Amino acid sequence: MEVKEPRIIDLTYTIKSDMLVYPGMERPVFQWIGKVNSEGYNLTKVSMVVHTGTHVDAPKHFLDDVPCIDEVSLNRLFGKAKLYRYIKKLKGQIITVEDVLSSGFQLEEDTIFIMETGIEKFMETKLYNEIFPIPSVELIEWLINKKIKAYMTDATAVDPIETKDSPNHHLLLRAGIPIVENLKNLHLLPENKAFLISALPVKFQGRDGAPCRAVAVTDVEKLILEEKMK
Ligand SMILES: [Zn+2]
Repeated sequence: MEVKEPRIIDLTYTIKSDMLVYPGMERPVFQWIGKVNSEGYNLTKVSMVVHTGTHVDAPKHFLDDVPCIDEVSLNRLFGKAKLYRYIKKLKGQIITVEDVLSSGFQLEEDTIFIMETGIEKFMETKLYNEIFPIPSVELIEWLINKKIKAYMTDATAVDPIETKDSPNHHLLLRAGIPIVENLKNLHLLPENKAFLISALPVKFQGRDGAPCRAVAVTDVEKLILEEKMK
């Protein structure tokens, strides 16, 4: 089948040994444990923090006796999504409920919420980990009241790097809401118009998070109708 136009938008960073990672974390290490010219096959071993690149935080990341990454409902990480685009110059500021509401943003219950802070343009520089805006605690509470299925963002975290108590992580994860961090290509997505997103994590037993391949589809209906007509 010939693919005419990209319908699936890749929202995932490539995992590579020289990538920017969260301050204090080790970069992924790839190792050939088989090579075609010696073993007859190529085989890779990788060692990495499970929160590397585009990844999902399970409630287990900050709490015990809560769902681990293999227990998070896939319904929370696949489905209808709405994106809010923050357009101010980035300097680590707080994004408020007022910022979101004054943009005309509307959110129905049981939607995946996507926060585009705009930090992607600083990827590969240390500013990426320094100046990303943070949602206010009130905004996180507002989103929890709206019964969001998941909170997904282009930023590396939902609390500042220097946080001591990570209030936003705690609020979301205690409410059972998984967090997806380090999304890319959010500028390709429509604002305040629903689309389909999928960010399914690798299924590590009993762990706090996992990398995922996140994608969006903006014209699902067209895709299904065209398939039917063949
Ligand atoms: Zn994480």
